Amino acid sequence: MSAAGRIVSVAVPLPVQAPFTYRVPDELPSPVAGCRVLVPFGAQRVVGMCLGPAVTPPAGTKLKALMEVVDEQPLVAPPLLELAAWVAEHYLAPPGECYRLILPPAGGRRGAALADTAAGFKHDRVAVLLDASVATRGVAQREALARLAAAGGRARVADLARDRAAIRGALEALAARGAVEFESERVVRSPVGLPALPERERPELTDEQAVALSAICAALDRGGFQPFLLHGVTGSGKTEVYLRGVERTLETGRGALLLVPEIALTPLLVRAAAARFGDLVAVQHSELSAGERHDQWWRIREGDARVVVGARSAVFAPVRDLGLIVVDEEHEAAYKQEESPRYHGRDVAVMRARFEGAVALLGSATPALESWSNALSGKYERLSLRKRIGSFGLPRVEIVDRRDALRAGDSPILTAPLREALELRLSRGEQSLLLLNRRGWATSLLCRECGEPLGCPRCSVALTLHERGALARCHYCGHDVRAPDACAGCKGVYLRLTGFGTERVLEAVQAALPTARVGRLDRDTAQRRGAVANLLHDFERGLLDILVGTQMLAKGHDFPKVTLVGVVDADVGLGLPDFRAAERTFELLTQVAGRAGRAELAGEVILQSHRPDHYALRLACDQDYEAFYARESEFRRTMGWPPFASLVNVVVRSRDAEAGRKEAGTLAEALRAAAQRRFRVLGPGAAPLARIKDEHRFQIVLRGPRKAMRDALRTALVARHGPVRWPGLVIDVDALSVL
Ligand code: ADP
Ligand code: ZN
Repeated sequence: MSAAGRIVSVAVPLPVQAPFTYRVPDELPSPVAGCRVLVPFGAQRVVGMCLGPAVTPPAGTKLKALMEVVDEQPLVAPPLLELAAWVAEHYLAPPGECYRLILPPAGGRRGAALADTAAGFKHDRVAVLLDASVATRGVAQREALARLAAAGGRARVADLARDRAAIRGALEALAARGAVEFESERVVRSPVGLPALPERERPELTDEQAVALSAICAALDRGGFQPFLLHGVTGSGKTEVYLRGVERTLETGRGALLLVPEIALTPLLVRAAAARFGDLVAVQHSELSAGERHDQWWRIREGDARVVVGARSAVFAPVRDLGLIVVDEEHEAAYKQEESPRYHGRDVAVMRARFEGAVALLGSATPALESWSNALSGKYERLSLRKRIGSFGLPRVEIVDRRDALRAGDSPILTAPLREALELRLSRGEQSLLLLNRRGWATSLLCRECGEPLGCPRCSVALTLHERGALARCHYCGHDVRAPDACAGCKGVYLRLTGFGTERVLEAVQAALPTARVGRLDRDTAQRRGAVANLLHDFERGLLDILVGTQMLAKGHDFPKVTLVGVVDADVGLGLPDFRAAERTFELLTQVAGRAGRAELAGEVILQSHRPDHYALRLACDQDYEAFYARESEFRRTMGWPPFASLVNVVVRSRDAEAGRKEAGTLAEALRAAAQRRFRVLGPGAAPLARIKDEHRFQIVLRGPRKAMRDALRTALVARHGPVRWPGLVIDVDALSVL
């Protein structure tokens, strides 16, 4: 290629559907694929990713020139470049947004480079005792010395002063007099603010764990891509299998990725990994500052951190020589990114393993139907842990028919059997979890005269009542109002609260069991930084008897003293008009039931339901995943839903309802013409949430083979909007739901 004719293709981090072509000016070196470049884009300057040489544009095309080549060597390894390209292609997502996923996060100092790789560590101040015999002045100094001595003469200042701020000043004063000296210690921040677990004796593996591990190790030793599905009932010891897999990966000189649905809610795995792999671990949690995130990216890139624990976006972490990717609780919807680029972390993890020649290990007690069918077809190798660790086995599950309770005039929130079971735990000093997958005080405020619920002015949903019914809030846009005294429609003054949420449950429990110490865990109480960690920590330390909460309770917690799990309303998700309603309900109930009786104490589960005969409930009671899978598969196959077809959900959004409807109609027509019976086009119709934040939403659902649908969609959109910008559209390939 002549120097004068150098042109390259660049993905810019903007919502545009195609890369752009730039000229490389004479004074700059030729960037190769994987190097960042600074380019002009409209009036802006943006850092994009060079994708390599571009095809020569037609003669006479005026090309803009690169402004700077940021990296002389590719910043990321080829497998990650391939991965970003795959995400763009598979999800029909803007390529520049996909390449941004593999770049260092913004927020670092400009030009920050390899030199600050060690900065992912925090330097903590440590006090060291030099002379315990100096005369002290005042109680604080005396106590500071005593604490330091009790800690063996060396301790973090923050720990010494945790419950008594005056200790800090006392230590300073003691230092001035030569009794104490300060050092700064390089320590890895304890993830999510929880104390790291002490490295316990490594347990001897059960036979089942050993079998699973040996299959994984064989694949690791062999090298090359191999996906596994580890189906292990709750409490069967999946974590230990993951950790041993990571250990073997490190021994073979490669790195590992441990993905969890949500860091704050899976403290066990995070802490165990931190305890076992120490300084080699980087934990990517949401409370890291932008600068910390940036530093950590470089630490991983440079190979200082070889084990990365994180939520879905960590799947793109630049781990060197990746040998193993673990996806814990692989069925979790939290792996799906619901904003552009809309990818599924689990599926991206499997693709990354393929590009890296690595082992993918997906684990769950309730695998997604997609994963299970991949295991049945042999795409994934299946490993099973059928038995719980410990002597008690799975908890006993009982269903209480709420209809009987209502007829008997019993409380709709806590029926007599559930109340008695809670009392029993309280008297024995054991703990309980109470699940209701609905936050707030009441689900709506109804006018008795016109029957209308109080709705959000900007969204087509009813407002949820909070703070004992005083505050009405939209769960979609956050709109808040004081609950009115009269109906906005008919001015009627007889308003009635209907339904109940976690706030009400908390109060009902406090009323029924006045001596119980009760906490609440849901999106509302989790707002504050560190709140989730603190609450879980208090519960773990026995400062609370009962924890009330939403599905946040159901994740991978391991609370040894929980012997009762109560589900206040097991039917919450069943009524949703979504093909995954039964799967989600089964999953949630099985997972939350799995929190009971995990150690030396037997567990009991009580489900309150209006529909005790529904198969999702009955099979969750029996914890019979395979029977559920068989039953649910039949339904999905008959109806043509995933995993028996792919799904693309297209939503046209518009402030102007008429314009949106017309646009969706035109698009659906083009898609129908292209479909030719290869796939189905449903709609357009108003989306189930027809209006959010004053935007009207029209929906088209495509079902069939993914590639045909994607190609047709791309062609239709290019014809309508051109190749660059597709405004007002949400394209969700492999959508988890059609709601
Ligand atoms: P899962 O993730 O499958 O629900 P966990 O990994 O949380 O289960 O394990 C349940 C409990 O059993 C944990 O407290 C764990 O420390 C313990 N455990 C795991 N493996 C063993 C083993 N081989 N021997 C003894 N205890 C174990
Ligand atoms: Zn709203």
